[in-house]
Amino acid sequence: MTARRLLSVAALFAALVALPGCARRGEKDADSADLVLRGGKVVTLDPARPAATALASRGGRIVAVGSDDEVAALIGPRTRVLELAGRLAIPGFIEGHAHFAGIGQAETTLALAPLASWDEIVAAVAAAARQRPAGEWIVGRGWHQEKWSAPPAPAVEGFPVHDALSAVSPDHPVFLLHASGHAAFVNARAMELAGIAAATPDPPGGEILRGADGRPTGLLRETAEELVFAALARAEAGRGAAERTAEAERQLELADRAVLARGITSFHDAGVSYAELDRLAAMADTGRLGVRLWVMVRDTVANHAANLHRYRRVGERAGKLTVRAIKVSIDGALGSRGAWLLEPYADLPGSTGLATTDPAEVRELARLALEQDYQLCVHAIGDRANRETLDIFTEALGSVPDGRQRRWRIEHAQHLNPAEIPRFAELGVVAAMQGIHCTSDAPYVVARLGERRAEEGAYVWRKLADAGAVIVNGTDAPVEPVDPIASFYATVTRQLADGTRFYPDQALSREEALATYTKNAAWAAFEENDKGTLELGKLADITVLDRDLLTIPEDEIPATRVVWTIVGGEVLHEAPAGPAAL
Ligand SMILES: [Zn+2]
Repeated sequence: MTARRLLSVAALFAALVALPGCARRGEKDADSADLVLRGGKVVTLDPARPAATALASRGGRIVAVGSDDEVAALIGPRTRVLELAGRLAIPGFIEGHAHFAGIGQAETTLALAPLASWDEIVAAVAAAARQRPAGEWIVGRGWHQEKWSAPPAPAVEGFPVHDALSAVSPDHPVFLLHASGHAAFVNARAMELAGIAAATPDPPGGEILRGADGRPTGLLRETAEELVFAALARAEAGRGAAERTAEAERQLELADRAVLARGITSFHDAGVSYAELDRLAAMADTGRLGVRLWVMVRDTVANHAANLHRYRRVGERAGKLTVRAIKVSIDGALGSRGAWLLEPYADLPGSTGLATTDPAEVRELARLALEQDYQLCVHAIGDRANRETLDIFTEALGSVPDGRQRRWRIEHAQHLNPAEIPRFAELGVVAAMQGIHCTSDAPYVVARLGERRAEEGAYVWRKLADAGAVIVNGTDAPVEPVDPIASFYATVTRQLADGTRFYPDQALSREEALATYTKNAAWAAFEENDKGTLELGKLADITVLDRDLLTIPEDEIPATRVVWTIVGGEVLHEAPAGPAAL
């Protein structure tokens, strides 16, 4: 800085101090907003003021909702102003049922199914190798050589050989599981660690595929995969506790970024152990979580009895992590015929599925939940599972005066006998469903249940809503991508990938579907005073979308993109292209 410039800065400073209005201006700064959004369509979901064009926040909470002119007075020198330019601001999406750590793990596994050729797979591995420390395993899954756009060259029995892959990952062992699970492809480093060489015999029940020269190609069939599993297990065991913790935390950070990028500001985690909870708490308490987590604890009855009272975190003390719910699964899934049914499967007449947890244990968890003021969240898919769960809820909630106010939840509530539909509202029980499950399961639902049961009770959003149930939406990620837009689209259209629609009379309206992703989910977590609508005093958790989800033609919904994700008045995700380019 030159002497002359220094002088001018000093003069300016002196002039400012001398200004009579200076102190007042300082006060005014304290009154100005940290963040202003203006010039858009703000859908508040607050019946008192459903629409606005601007919004302001200070200290993490909303201080104004109104017109651009009304909010203008709150813009000070340090206010960040986001120009909506006609775009849509809504209460931040609340993912109502998914698995946070699972999303992080999926982020560190390469998804190979979408890649169209061997060259693309090699490129994906090369990119992964550049991002990871040498020696770390790179694991991928889902490739299928017959689905590639061109056959690999060179090839042995239609499979590639490892040289190109090994060249881009000399220091990283690579393990790529075939879509079938019955074969895997590995690189030179992985073979070295697994002790696989030209002279290695095929294990019983497996084959190390070899080229004409006798060298292993990298393709391992059936039990030959296990040679590599053993090396993977050794690597895992050889890592210290600190390294394993660092890896787990890195995965949680990836999950955080992934959900923020989807416009999610709060996330209901459907099942973490106490050990995982300790890790999440450490991250929440050191400011390493962007999204707000509300978790269901899933553990043994004995661990619950010992720990529930110690782990409960609600209100201001909770910060980014709220703990006040227990998770248990009473049955399995419909696809694998593990859902517990009242009558046998249409396509497996000898079976009604099964209870995966003894109902007596669910009853014991219900007792603990009542005693410790936790919500009880029971995974129930089949009509028998839902009936048994509602019976347990009726008995437990009936034993206390405020039973209907406990907001217990059924996770999935996929298939109901019509008799159960009114029971949700009667008991004040939340139906935590996933719109996207409806359309991705639909191709086999009628096969499993037959037409009558599918129509009467499968994914009956409309019937539940009309009966007064509170419905929450979500994706069950990583089972499905953690994408609110895709689940919203499924909820309002029930349209399958092939264009057909699964009992479309059960669709929700767009306004209802938005509520399932915002205010209903806030209520289902006892957080309606802080979240779910955009109104004065609530948390400034806001999602900005590039188009109006509520009015665009239906077929444009899936193309909707998140522009900004705002948590507590902080912009934690911004569309990479920059809003100007959208
Ligand atoms: Zn789940």
